[in-house]
Amino acid sequence: MSQSKGGHPGAPQAGSVVRNYADLLNWLPDPPETFFMADVPEDYVGTIRSLSHDSVIAKEGWEAYDGESMPTENSRRVWKVESWASERAAEIVANRDAICPCGHAGVQNCGDHYACSFEACDQAFERDELEVDR
Ligand SMILES: [Zn+2]
Repeated sequence: MSQSKGGHPGAPQAGSVVRNYADLLNWLPDPPETFFMADVPEDYVGTIRSLSHDSVIAKEGWEAYDGESMPTENSRRVWKVESWASERAAEIVANRDAICPCGHAGVQNCGDHYACSFEACDQAFERDELEVDR
């Protein structure tokens, strides 16, 4: 069995999944730091669950799990971004031309201002703050 160099252990589509969710992956704590769903904006809970199916985010077990009994209602699942995915997301964010000064992927036109479309970011901008070619 040969292991391909520079590849990642995720599913074949995992690379493009990382691209689509680079802002989220970059925003989440860098591994080996872990996080709880409670720390994540509600809108991203479903995304994180699906990213875990793509092996981009890993389930790291349970908080308050003593290893003997089954996890209880009070125990919380511990999540972690896979390190290859975290590195890839940081690279994508660093290398792209973002039009919003905060560097996230897009903005929404809110009439009198523009708001960053990344859920965990609450930045708002004036039209002339956007980094677009005019
Ligand atoms: Zn932003």
